[in-house]
Amino acid sequence: MTENSDRTVVVTGGSRGIGRAICKAFAEPGTRIFFNYFSPADPEGEKAAAEETIALVRQNGAEAQGMWANVAVPAEVSQFFDQVMEATGRVDVLVNNAGILRDALMARMKEADWDAVLSVNLKGPFLCTQAAARIMAKQRSGRIVNMASVVGVIGNIGQANYVAAKAGLIGLTKTAAKEYASRGVTVNAVAPGFIDTDMTAGLPEKVRTAMLASIPLGRSGSPEDVAGVVRFLASDAAAYLTGQVLHVSGGMVM
Ligand code: NAP
Repeated sequence: MTENSDRTVVVTGGSRGIGRAICKAFAEPGTRIFFNYFSPADPEGEKAAAEETIALVRQNGAEAQGMWANVAVPAEVSQFFDQVMEATGRVDVLVNNAGILRDALMARMKEADWDAVLSVNLKGPFLCTQAAARIMAKQRSGRIVNMASVVGVIGNIGQANYVAAKAGLIGLTKTAAKEYASRGVTVNAVAPGFIDTDMTAGLPEKVRTAMLASIPLGRSGSPEDVAGVVRFLASDAAAYLTGQVLHVSGGMVM
């Protein structure tokens, strides 16, 4: 056990990719990890993915539960947090990680794709932060980490919806940091660059090569590269950090 092990950690979108690596990074004896996931397209596949995250977390001696809940739907978010509270009575860490892409050039972007990305990537973190911060304020302690993106700072062609949501998430991070600081809650953001997950797997080879050329460290990031920084932000070592955006991009953005 470490000084940070006896706690309840909530991760949105923990079934795959960066979210799964975050669940694993927090897994140690004494820690209770709750994550959600939501894939209307492939419920069985996602259930299997969630089971894999649970197995990995339990291997490291932590408790784990995965729940089906859409972060963009208020009733599902409150039900998710009610279940966490029923099981453990507290929320020490919230990682707003769940996110989706619906890329298109602005001239062709459909309103439905704008709405879907803003709902999951920005309204979702707002709803989860409200629910968690209410609990953390009563506890007088808590850590919230939001998964932004470097493109939320520098912009990106073909991603108006995603970029607007991530830029908004950085604004939300800073506002929540100011509003909850007096309650002992810190709120920070991580801005990953190019990380190898399902989200980036479909990129054309030309785009991938161009991206890699723009990374001073000369490689794409792994989900573990991001998870380690999230874990740091939720540790005692980061007690005096709030309202910050840490770029995890191999130097892509400085
Ligand atoms: P991923 O592999 O596509 O995983 C996304 C996760 O979010 C899945 O667990 C997914 O669950 C969950 N999710 C999606 N919609 C949800 C919803 N409405 N409610 C609850 N959960 C939902 O993506 P990733 O690459 O790990 O990305 C994780 C985060 O990092 C995202 O916020 C992304 O924007 C950000 N990011 C990624 C990169 C990168 O290069 N990969 C770079 C910068 C930022 P289901 O599978 O069940 O849908």
